[in-house]
Amino acid sequence: MSRFAYRKLQLAIITKALEYNVLILFVDPRNTSTACPRCGARLSYNHRLAICRICGVIADRDTVGAINIYLKALKTLAPRLGSWDTRPITNETRAKGGHMDELMTTRIKSYI
Ligand SMILES: [Zn+2]
Repeated sequence: MSRFAYRKLQLAIITKALEYNVLILFVDPRNTSTACPRCGARLSYNHRLAICRICGVIADRDTVGAINIYLKALKTLAPRLGSWDTRPITNETRAKGGHMDELMTTRIKSYI
C-alpha cells in the first residue's frame, strides 16, 4: 500500500471512529511481527508465514502484526482503566449493575 493510500485509509478510519464515538489509539507498529502473539517467543519466518517453534502458532505476518498491535493497545489502556475485577459476582453487586462497568465507561469517556 502506498503511503498516500495508507494515509487516506487512516483518515477514513479516524473520521468514522469520531463519527461513531469510538476510542482511537495510535500504536507504534515497529517490531509487532517479531514476537509470537500467544507466548511471546521470537518467531521464525518462511516468506510471509510466521511460525512459533515454542507453542506452534502458524499465521500470516500481517495477522501476527495486527494481533500484536491490538495487544499493545490493550497494554496502553490497562494502566488507565485498571484491571477487570475477577471476583465472583454477588447478588448485591449484580443489583448494582456489576463490578466496574460504570466506572470503566466513565474512564473511557474521560480518556477520549
Ligand atoms: Zn508461541
